[in-house]
Parts: sequence; C-alpha cells; structure tokens
Amino acid sequence: MRPEVLNSIFAESQTLDGVGPKLAKPLEKLGLTRVKDVAYHLPERFVTRRSIANLDEGAEGEQVIVALTATEHRAPYNPGRGPYRVMAQDEVGNICALTYFGRASYTAKKQLPVGEKRWVAGRLDRYGDMLQIVHPDHVEMESAANLVRLNEPVYPLSEGLTQPRIGSLIAQAVKRLPELPEWIEPSQFSQIGWPTWRDALHLAHKDTHAKARDRLAYDELLANSLALLMVKAEGRRRKGQALVGDRRFRDRLKLPFEMTGAQKRSVQEIEGDLQQESPMLRLLQGDVGAGKTVVALEAMLIANEAGKQAALLAPTEILARQHFETLRTMAAPTGVEVAMLTGRAKGKEREGILMGLLDGSIDILIGTHAIFQDSVLYKDLGLIVVDEQHRFGVAQRLALAGKGKRAPHTLAMTATPIPRSLTLAQYGEMDVSRLDELPPGRQAIDTRVVVQERMEDVVAGVERHLAGGQQAYWVCPMVREANGSWQTDDIAAAEARYAVLKERFGDEVVMVHGQLKPDVKDANMERFASGKARLLIATTVIEVGVDVPAATLMVIEQAERFGLAQLHQLRGRVGRGSEKSVCLLLRGAELSETGKRRLSLMRETQDGFRIAEEDLELRGGGELLGTRQSGEAAFRIANLDQVQSLLPVAHADARLLIERDGGLTSPRGEAARVLLYLFERDWGVQLLRGG
Ligand code: ADP
Ligand code: MG
Repeated sequence: MRPEVLNSIFAESQTLDGVGPKLAKPLEKLGLTRVKDVAYHLPERFVTRRSIANLDEGAEGEQVIVALTATEHRAPYNPGRGPYRVMAQDEVGNICALTYFGRASYTAKKQLPVGEKRWVAGRLDRYGDMLQIVHPDHVEMESAANLVRLNEPVYPLSEGLTQPRIGSLIAQAVKRLPELPEWIEPSQFSQIGWPTWRDALHLAHKDTHAKARDRLAYDELLANSLALLMVKAEGRRRKGQALVGDRRFRDRLKLPFEMTGAQKRSVQEIEGDLQQESPMLRLLQGDVGAGKTVVALEAMLIANEAGKQAALLAPTEILARQHFETLRTMAAPTGVEVAMLTGRAKGKEREGILMGLLDGSIDILIGTHAIFQDSVLYKDLGLIVVDEQHRFGVAQRLALAGKGKRAPHTLAMTATPIPRSLTLAQYGEMDVSRLDELPPGRQAIDTRVVVQERMEDVVAGVERHLAGGQQAYWVCPMVREANGSWQTDDIAAAEARYAVLKERFGDEVVMVHGQLKPDVKDANMERFASGKARLLIATTVIEVGVDVPAATLMVIEQAERFGLAQLHQLRGRVGRGSEKSVCLLLRGAELSETGKRRLSLMRETQDGFRIAEEDLELRGGGELLGTRQSGEAAFRIANLDQVQSLLPVAHADARLLIERDGGLTSPRGEAARVLLYLFERDWGVQLLRGG
C-alpha cells in the first residue's frame, strides 16, 4: 500500500486548476499523469531574455522579447507538408516570420490575430534572408507581458502546451508537496548540505541550483539501486531450473558462416549459466552487426534441448517480424517449432498460438510485449531473451519472470554500447558477455559529411546508386532536438521528403514511420527487404535492428541534430553485407564546435564503444541519458554527469541499507519505502512482502 503521506501528490494531474480534457493528452505525452510528475518536471534550462524595442536591436540567436503585429497567416501549401507561418511586423516595420510546425499552428491562429499587437518571446533566428522565431515561448497581450520573466525556466513541452501554461501547473503542484521523512543518512545529509526533498523541488524550478538538482537526482538513483538490489535478492531466493542441453538441436543447425571467437565464448558463458539452478541474469552487449541473433538462437536451442520453451521479446513489430523470419529459417533444420505473437494477432490465429504455448508444441516464441500479457500461458518457459533491453523497464522484466513455474533464465541483448561507468545504472548487477569482435569480411563504411545545400548532388548520387542495382536508406531530419515531444513534426518532414523523392524515383521508394498503419508499415518494410523497393525513407524507427544486407547507402539529413549514439545505430544499418557501403551525413550550413567534433568523430571511427565514451564527454551535463529518446528512460531526473558522480554513492548507500535493514522496517527503512513509491519502484517493496 502506498504510504498515505504521498496521497496528495499521487492525485491525477487533472486535479490541478486549469487542466481540462484538452490538456490531459499533452500532459500524458510528457509522462505527467500525477501531481508529483508535474512537480518533478524540471526546467531544461533557464533563459536570460532581453527586451528590445524593435528587431534591429536583437542579434541572431538571441533570446528576445519584442512587440510584433501579425500581418498575414500563411498556411502551408500542402497541409502537413511544411510549417505554418505568421508574418509579423515590429514598430518600425521590420518583418519577422513566426514559424510553427505540426499542430502548433492551432495555437498560432488563436494567439496572433492579424492587426493586433502581441509581445513575443523567443529565439531570434534567420531563415534564408528573413528573420524568424520558431515556436515562440510566449505570445502575450501587453497586460501580461511583464509576466515574461527575464531569468526564466524553460520546460520541455509537447504539442498543445505553452510555457506559461506548464509554469502555472508546476507552481500549483509544487505548492501541494508534503514534508516527507528523510531517507538520506543524517550525517551524510548535513555534511553535503543538501536541501530537504521538499525545498529541493522548490529550488530546482527557480534557478540552476546545483545542490537541489543533485539531491533530486540522488534520490532517483537511490530508489533505482534499492529496487535493483531487491530484485537481485529476490532472484537469489527464487529457484530456477538447471537447463542442460544435449546438442541434439544445435548439431543440426546449418549456419552459413563460422561463429566468431566472441560469439563462441558468449554461447559458452550462457551455457554455463543455464546449467545452474539459480536463474541467469546476463547481458549480451555487442555492437550493431556483431551477430547477437545467432547467439540468442543457440541459447534458446539449449533450453529446447532441455525440454523447455524459450521466448524472445523484441521492442517493435518490425523487429519481432524480422527476428521471426530469420530465426525460423535458421532453426528449420532442427525441427523446433518457432511462432510469432504480436498485439496484432487476432481471433483464430491468436488462439492457435496460445494453445501451442500451453500444450508445449511451440518451442520458441518471438514477439512484442504481447507475449507477456496475462492471457499468455506457457507450458514450461525456461528462457527469456530480451532484445534491445534498454527499451524495457525492469518492471516488465519482472512481469515476464513470473511466467514460468520456476523463475526462467534471462538473457538481455543490447547494441547500445554503454560506457562501463553506466552499465551499473542501466542493468543493475547483471553479468555481461561482450561481442567485441565483428564477423570477418566487413568493410569499413565510407562516411562523408556533406552540407545540406548540396542536396541536388546527393539526390543525383542516390540515383546513380539505385541505377547500379543497389538499395539505400534515407533518414529524414529531426525537426526538433530529440526530446521526443515533437515527433509529429518529424513525420511531417519525412512526408515532405517522401513526396519529393517519390516524384523522382516513383515506385522504387517506400516510407516507414511511426504513424503509418501497422500493416502498411510492414508491407513497405517487406517491399524494401525483398528488394522490390530500393529506397527506404524513414524517421528514426529504423534505428534498431533492421537487417537488409543489400542496402549499402545511407543518407542522414541534418545529422548534427542526432546524438552520436543514435547516428552510430543508424549507420549500422549499412555495411552489413560484403559490398562497400557509404554513409552521407548531411549537415546545416552552420555548425557548433561540438557539432563539428561529433561529425568528424563519426567519420573517424566505427567503434561503438569509443563513440559512446566520447558522446558522454561531449554532451557533458544537462542532457539526459540517450535512452530517453528511444522511449524508455532509465532516469528522468538524473543527467549523465550526475549518474557518473552520484550513482556509485547511491548504490553503496542502497547496499548498506539493504544489508542493515533488508525488510525496510527501521525509521530510515520506512522513509526508503516512501522513496520507492515516489519513484514508482514499489515493485521492490512488493517483493519484500511476497518474500
Ligand atoms: P546484431 O548483433 O546487430 O543483432 P545480427 O545478429 O543481425 O547482428 O547479425 C548481423 C549479420 O551478420 C547477419 O546478417 C548475420 O547473419 C551475420 N553474421 C552473424 N554472425 C556472423 C559470423 N560469425 N560470420 C559472418 N556473418 C555473421
Ligand atoms: Mg539485432
């Protein structure tokens, strides 16, 4: 049961004044479903603005407040295929465009009636030879203009939210914060001079208050470590089953290649774990293309040889389907039964699979999270493989672990080359196997940086490439920095690019993105994989796992906007066959120093671990763990710097607390329970009760 002291802030955010059904959706998109989530929605930065009398006084790139009068609204020529622009004029007649992508145009229509003066706050930019402000932070009437503060928090937004709106909700949420018992050891607490939890949340919204931010980050890290340690302790208590294979399936495999040393070693490590009665908890880490799939197959066959079932969980439908095709083909000579279950399986098809799982005729099940719904029952599940582990929460892992009669073994796979310093945070105390050797015969990918202005040349290059009978990927620009909240704009950009390239290349072109109907997406992907279509336009949905060895060219637009780790993942889609591959990174005309270093690093190396380490260095503080962009954040509050500096401390503190008071019954233990609930790591507490 959730501690009562948390009730007020666990109320739904709809209980805040001014939240109607219209705001519910944008809030949910940001994960702000409860009052405490709103209170924890911390500023991504603080801006210092300058009030200017007219646009001549503002410098490009500067944050300004200026009075503007709308003169004209320009809807995109083709709805959804370009930005919505409001042309506006300052007091002396300078023109400025206020530019809106996606559905933000609705706000623009309301806020900027033609002929009326408004105070507009935002970043002054240039678009061609025109001044512009993209998505102004504030548009206010004169009476409210003084509400725009000069040192002002800027919050991550989603469509339908504005800075003032979220600001007012946060102010209300913070007011509701109760006093909580202190879970930090008193001596430590006074020594560092951290504010109390409640003060820290107040302060963090007012200023770049390092101690407050650190304290809040520490809390999150502590909660995470506590929960992980509890899972681990529970794992030790729970019995698994020793799985000993007799090789009868593995010997029948007819792989078209010899496994690398690293692959063989990993299989051995896994086999060793499976033979133990305590459940395996192992992470298989291997760069893109390192060949994790076949290692997973061997592991699953060992389970099958021991008479058990195995399940493979993929993060997306596309990947589940691809794994299914690959594994079914590879496993064909062994005679084991491989099936697929996704959320889309309905009626008879679904029933057939459920029956097969229950009577044991299905040996290997591949699917999305649909494979651990309550209605899915296994006869005897011995092994779970989780692909692209970082996309799944620990809670989900647990849900799965409850499926077998005895705790199943778990193999997690990831291509995200996590720096060693972060492995602990992401994976707790899992054992790690590393595929640190690529299959032989891979050629280096020829990576070039090209300015976006040379688009025509790039398209001509693609044309030659396709004419030569090869395939290519085209990854569309990110309209906004990757904080996940402007996805539809990215899709608009992809649609626009598709329209242009389709005109040029006709039926050779297909597109995939997150908002296509699932069957359309599959059909398009299938056309590309089979070679019927030869140019695939995509948003970043192709980032993970897609394997089409005949595709040897990749174009990435506005590459400087992608994180290094993401670029690396994307580039990993090519260079998978024996043909020479090329990756073109298109960049804008102007580039920051960091931007330059990032792109030249991409040119220099293909070593995922090196890229990850440097990424960490280049990004420095203030940015969230890269995983947030891919849907499953390890942490919402702690940034990379804080993870590096505070995680070891938090982890040690958690261990000490568990050692001294494993049942969390002392006063500090009770406080720690509150903490676990606060961060929704309460499955840790529930384990306590069960065990
Ligand atoms: P990832 O680690 O990214 O999941 P995959 O398992 O998809 O990589 O493997 C990438 C490609 O390399 C596949 O086409 C696979 O058949 C091939 N492959 C895997 N292992 C080897 C090997 N030892 N030798 C040659 N090719 C291999
Ligand atoms: Mg893979």
